[in-house]
Amino acid sequence: MAHLISFDIDGTLVTGNGPGPITLEMVRRAAEHGHIIGSCSDRTVQDQKNMWAAAGIEVSFTVNKHRLDSVKEQYADVEIYYHIGDTNMDQHYALLSGFEFLQVQTMDPHPWMHNEAGEVLWGPEGRGPLSVTEPIQTLERRVAAPPVNAVEDDFATTG
Ligand SMILES: [Mg+2]
Repeated sequence: MAHLISFDIDGTLVTGNGPGPITLEMVRRAAEHGHIIGSCSDRTVQDQKNMWAAAGIEVSFTVNKHRLDSVKEQYADVEIYYHIGDTNMDQHYALLSGFEFLQVQTMDPHPWMHNEAGEVLWGPEGRGPLSVTEPIQTLERRVAAPPVNAVEDDFATTG
């Protein structure tokens, strides 16, 4: 079954500012593999549409980051929802919207990222430095951690 793949633009796609590692050839192959593709970016929707038009790639959606959940509502018959991005904000909105977050700097290459020779040819700038330093899940776990247990000590001292 198809995957739905949402691409961040800046720092993720080679057309971004700055240029990310995911090339337009990869994006085209993702579509050829039958996946539903589109962009989810801080850029205006019109700017996203212009970018795809200039690339000659037909996409199924172009949304702002906080509207990623609307994409999930729109496409129900999908095996898995991915958002590929480079920052904590990508991770934040991906998890908030029920998407799997794939960090472009560290993700294992998906089949559509390989060319006919089986190579993964990232964009000319490479994968770039890691900017998501700590998973959000870890932060939540820390906040939810129980306080030090003082109850037993109280019983011991008051008899
Ligand atoms: Mg970005």
